[in-house]
Amino acid sequence: MKKLITLAVASALVATVAGCGNKAATPSPSPAASTGAAATTAPAPAKTDGKKPTIGVAIYKFDDTFMSGVRAAIADAAKDKATVDIVDSQNSQPTQNDKVDLFITKKVNALAINAVDRTAAGVIIDKAKTANVPVVFLNREPLADDMKKWDKVYYVGAKAEQSGTMEGQLLVDYFKAHPEADKNKDGKIQYVMLKGEPGHQDAELRTKFSIQAITDAGLGVEKVAEDTAMWDRVKGQEKMAAFLASSESKIEAVLANNDDMALGAIEALKAKGYFKDNKFLPVVGVDATAPALQALSDGTLLGTVLNDAKNQGAATTNVATALANGLVPSKETTGYDVTDGKYVWISYKKITKANMNEAK
Ligand code: BGC
Repeated sequence: MKKLITLAVASALVATVAGCGNKAATPSPSPAASTGAAATTAPAPAKTDGKKPTIGVAIYKFDDTFMSGVRAAIADAAKDKATVDIVDSQNSQPTQNDKVDLFITKKVNALAINAVDRTAAGVIIDKAKTANVPVVFLNREPLADDMKKWDKVYYVGAKAEQSGTMEGQLLVDYFKAHPEADKNKDGKIQYVMLKGEPGHQDAELRTKFSIQAITDAGLGVEKVAEDTAMWDRVKGQEKMAAFLASSESKIEAVLANNDDMALGAIEALKAKGYFKDNKFLPVVGVDATAPALQALSDGTLLGTVLNDAKNQGAATTNVATALANGLVPSKETTGYDVTDGKYVWISYKKITKANMNEAK
């Protein structure tokens, strides 16, 4: 799986660097005509008849803090340009596939899909292509080969490796400014890692690149423990409590692939007396959700990385709306740069207490 992910990311990167893109593409009323997209077999796209187009949006599960922010941003951006029908796939790929079938039956003008299982995107693309309904994936990046299956397939997301690098740098800055944080004075950061869902590009690459950023900065690292807490706060708390029970005296830092798990870890640390009477462990996460910003201001969370839900949601709506209106997504038609004719990348940003207003 790891290999697959690395391959997928590598080919996306190569494609990005090759970057012919369609930035300069002029909006065309008939993208199918210019690409020859299965015009002979596919049905005509559903007509908007001058009305606002309808976009069928399937979120992997509503009960996810970060995706709740993206969901709100999708709806907000759609206000005056599209009608969005947003459904909960309840963390089940078969349920999501059924929702997609229903959207197609209802003749939506475009789909926006936050896949439950990103390796299942190919099935959704086949359905969309057969019905000639353009599809924008978000947050869970389909494999590069699936992205190539049809020219009306797009992805809106953020570069997972960038968030990992930034998360690692937050710890580097802290250890350089606080040599006493190296409790056993061995020149290495002894850390525990709370991973998101295995196979998710953000879980795999944040784990890898956060540690790489630390070694790149010339600091040593040693893993004390690593476990998946599936992006979940309660599971993060349980796993951190287990790490503390088995190896508390060794741990010098906590890295979590997202803020919810970092906040769970902070709860477990609080139960052990941390964050008062000078008892402290640096905890870093990713997302900059509202509760994480609160923890930054309380001084429990050391740092996070802004995963820009607002722009990811707005870009999803804009790309889907452009496609629904028969336009080729480009900077001109969506307000966002489109790379390699298929990808919209939203940048991450390091956030600490000092600049947390930028994430609000
Ligand atoms: C976020 C996580 C979220 C996941 C859902 C990631 O980009 O950082 O908080 O749970 O996406 O797919």
